[in-house]
Amino acid sequence: RLEIRNISRIFEGRRVVDDVSLSVLPGQVTCLLGPSGCGKSTTLRIIAGVDMQDAGEIHIDGRLVCDTLYRVPPERRSVGLMFQDFALFPHLTVAQNVAFGLSGSKLAKRTRVEELLHRVDLVRHIDDYPHQLSGGEQQRVALARALAPRPKIMLMDEPFSGLDNRLRDEIRDETLGVLKDEGAAVLLVTHEPDEAMRMADEIALMRAGRIVQQGAPYNVYNAPVDRDAAAFFSDIN
Ligand code: ATP
Ligand code: MG
Repeated sequence: RLEIRNISRIFEGRRVVDDVSLSVLPGQVTCLLGPSGCGKSTTLRIIAGVDMQDAGEIHIDGRLVCDTLYRVPPERRSVGLMFQDFALFPHLTVAQNVAFGLSGSKLAKRTRVEELLHRVDLVRHIDDYPHQLSGGEQQRVALARALAPRPKIMLMDEPFSGLDNRLRDEIRDETLGVLKDEGAAVLLVTHEPDEAMRMADEIALMRAGRIVQQGAPYNVYNAPVDRDAAAFFSDIN
């Protein structure tokens, strides 16, 4: 379980993230949804531990991972990351990419790698290199790699934006299935309302650094908090 409490981030005197609080439960997908520049990626970077907030604190499974004085390093937060530029290591095979963050015996690692490649349906590419895979296949390897160490929290920043429409639908559904099976708490960043509607259990609508509305997708869509929120959702087909 991820708990964000009153996080703020100031860049050059501007409050880019402004008193954001949010909980993400295991087995659930929460979408941080909002227009370009509203502070989504900044929020995610703070949770991942690669940027630091100016106020507020974050807890993962009841353990404080950062406040303004104390900070657990990114690699010890049990957080998986999947970003738009998910860059696999080009000189490593699919198996080596997926095993990258794993520790333990060779056999244990191999078992976990095969299990995940089964999940994302890529076992036949286990010994291939990234350049031998399509964009969608590479994305699935990136998902397997992010999930391999069994992160409690999965942070995804527009992970599907590089894909064409048909492939995107397919990979979204597959990703959702794998994430639910693994039981991770997922925070998915997107600026596309229809992606949030499709994937989220909970939507947090963000604007100018603030969460302006939060709830189940159906409720947020049907009862927008104001005109801007209504307009933002209006181009869903
Ligand atoms: P997008 O949908 O376009 O990815 P976003 O919601 O992820 O947008 P952020 O990347 O969080 O937006 O940026 C929020 C604001 O903070 C932007 O105005 C951006 O210019 C500013 N910003 C982000 N990082 C920095 C930085 N390191 N220094 C100064 N300003 C920054
Ligand atoms: Mg962003």
